[in-house]
Amino acid sequence: MTRMTRDDCLALDAADPLAPLRAQFELPPDLIYLDGNSLGVLPRATAARVQDVVQREWGRDLIQSWNSAGWITLPQRIGDKIARLVGAQAGELVVADSTSANLFKVLSAAARIVCEDAPERRAIVSERSNFPTDLYIAESVCEALGWDLELLEPEAIGARLGPDVALLMLTHVNYRTGRMHDMPSLTAEAHAAGALAVWDLAHSAGAVPVDLRGADADFAVGCGYKYLNGGPGAPAFVWAHPRHAERFWQPLSGWMGHAAPFAFTPGYRPAAGIARYLCGTPPVLSLAALECGVDTVLAADAHGGMAALREKSIALTELFAALVEARCAGMGLVVVSPRDASERGSQVCLAPADREAKHAYAVVQALIARGVVGDFRAGDSSTPDILRFGFTPLYTRFVDAWDAVEHLRQVMQAEEWREARFNQRSAVT
Ligand SMILES: *Cc1c(COP(=O)(O)O)cnc(C)c1O
Repeated sequence: MTRMTRDDCLALDAADPLAPLRAQFELPPDLIYLDGNSLGVLPRATAARVQDVVQREWGRDLIQSWNSAGWITLPQRIGDKIARLVGAQAGELVVADSTSANLFKVLSAAARIVCEDAPERRAIVSERSNFPTDLYIAESVCEALGWDLELLEPEAIGARLGPDVALLMLTHVNYRTGRMHDMPSLTAEAHAAGALAVWDLAHSAGAVPVDLRGADADFAVGCGYKYLNGGPGAPAFVWAHPRHAERFWQPLSGWMGHAAPFAFTPGYRPAAGIARYLCGTPPVLSLAALECGVDTVLAADAHGGMAALREKSIALTELFAALVEARCAGMGLVVVSPRDASERGSQVCLAPADREAKHAYAVVQALIARGVVGDFRAGDSSTPDILRFGFTPLYTRFVDAWDAVEHLRQVMQAEEWREARFNQRSAVT
């Protein structure tokens, strides 16, 4: 039970050392945006930067800009910035393609290592409620190799890591529940069992501290448009531990990952290191926007950095969960994210207390109509429907958490969600 008042939340905002970072964003007035885990907010710098790339670098300087404006090295330049957020060294991470495509590359490369070193290992182990695209990509990698994809509940994963397991593939923070895996210990368990560990950082990069090198992970991918604020469909990133980066070339052997793309020779020779994980020509306009987004996170360095972001993120999610439990008690919703902050990413998920209740989607729509943007993720036979609220410490205020819960309380109390307009489904939920 929390006795926090709205004035207490305003006082927390007034004392928040990260508060100045909110001015980096174009936030629509009167909107409480709790969906930065799906699409980060537009940074103020982005429109002018993209306009400059379009009008000056492209419009005036044209093809020279590949050299003069450094377009050709954008994947590495932005990769080095993201590396600082995930515990990788400069030169170990590049920006390329989508998370899905990058996952295919790293799973294929990791699988080739196992096929060579330990061909008796023929299973990829993952979590049943992992993000579907990760599972679909793993399915096709397994299909090509005649391997099995095994999906388990999180508690069962450690015990399954045995002599037939090739790869452990996990998303660090679960997209539905916000539950965060212990990356160092699961990676160590995978290694002790002789498997490699592949991590998806889609809901981690820019949201929670990650130390890929410290955890001794093998491969990682992550998303540019969520907590990195890179814009819709922003390019993703890919990292390989240097001990693996040069062992094979990844399966999408495009010319941008070639050792000498502009030699125009017929045979493929992979570039040294992570550069071989590039495939085709980099999307310059999208990269320009992504760099502005990544810079909004790096701007926190002057205010305590990732540790300060994490501290505020925990305070925000803790406050939201406690306020829901105190102010919406008995209204049919329960907090399903872990209540132990060390096991929680930067989001809080609610679910109908009655698993038969089908109003989660309509509740989210009623909140959106009131200017509180979260999202809905459909459940299935083993998981409940979810109301998902992401907290981005760069721009979310404590008073936003308070006001969001007050709107939720009113929606539930008046059963506003019953209105027909809140029960129409759109293509994107
Ligand atoms: C958001 C997300 C993706 C997105 O993949 P795209 O290829 O960008 O569509 C993949 N995996 C996870 C775990 C995600 O959260």
